[in-house]
Amino acid sequence: MPRTSIAAEVNSGRVLISDGAWGTFLQKKGWAPGECPDYWSLTRPDDVFAIAEDYITAGSDMIETNSFGASPLKLRHFNLAEKCTQINEAAAKISRRAAGDKKWVLGSIGPSGKMLLLGDVSSKEMAEGFKIQAQALARGGADAICIETMSAIDEAVLAIQAAKENTGCEVICTFTYQQAAHGTFRTMMGHSTAKTTAAALDAGADIIGTNCGYGMAQLIKITREIRQIDAAVPLLVHANAGLPHLRDGVEVFPETAEDMADQVGELLQAGANIIGGCCGTTPEHIRAIKNASLKQAW
Ligand SMILES: [Zn+2]
Repeated sequence: MPRTSIAAEVNSGRVLISDGAWGTFLQKKGWAPGECPDYWSLTRPDDVFAIAEDYITAGSDMIETNSFGASPLKLRHFNLAEKCTQINEAAAKISRRAAGDKKWVLGSIGPSGKMLLLGDVSSKEMAEGFKIQAQALARGGADAICIETMSAIDEAVLAIQAAKENTGCEVICTFTYQQAAHGTFRTMMGHSTAKTTAAALDAGADIIGTNCGYGMAQLIKITREIRQIDAAVPLLVHANAGLPHLRDGVEVFPETAEDMADQVGELLQAGANIIGGCCGTTPEHIRAIKNASLKQAW
């Protein structure tokens, strides 16, 4: 059976499970700071495949690609900008191989690390980078482009438009928020959920949502805020396993698989349709989240 679109599946009433962290997992497999994690799709494809496969085995309905930092602007730090197409295409092919033809592949696009506001880069150059990345992900087999951890609206809009105009993929866009005054939420650039939601939908995003942040409880509140603005749009939530702290020099995430699973009912009630995890989450978290979502279906 061919895959339907993710949005159509959500609109038919199904709760979908996404994957968990990639960065945390790469670290466990020996990735060291200073190394380009995205380059692993070319240099250590078996390790990247093993991550994707673990999430699929844990019950993910969709799997991201190891390409969060693979925009030309970010790859430039590692003198790998000219390999952008190759890296993204390889990342999508690896996740497609793990996903088979029944599960979806989400081509991950993270922030470029440059700010239009500061004149770090022209909007033309930034848009061109997102275009190259999105096209390569699509060519490698991505069903959707997942633009994530966004904080600047202007950058997110360029990424959404680049993906919409240059690929046939569905487009997901999620922002990361912090708690601001009066209990509301703002991105690092100061944008409210009302502003980000309107901008992402105007630019053509098919699915919106939130990722990263302080953990499930915070993302439940953000989900409620977004749902007050738009009651119907498919909504994806990737929460961190809480806020990390250092224990004996090692980063530890406080929320266990059970802690996160216990909050799945509340997250669904708040209006989430697609649930996965961000930093610190593992296949164990995804397995527990999936089981909790199945119980909720009753
Ligand atoms: Zn995160």
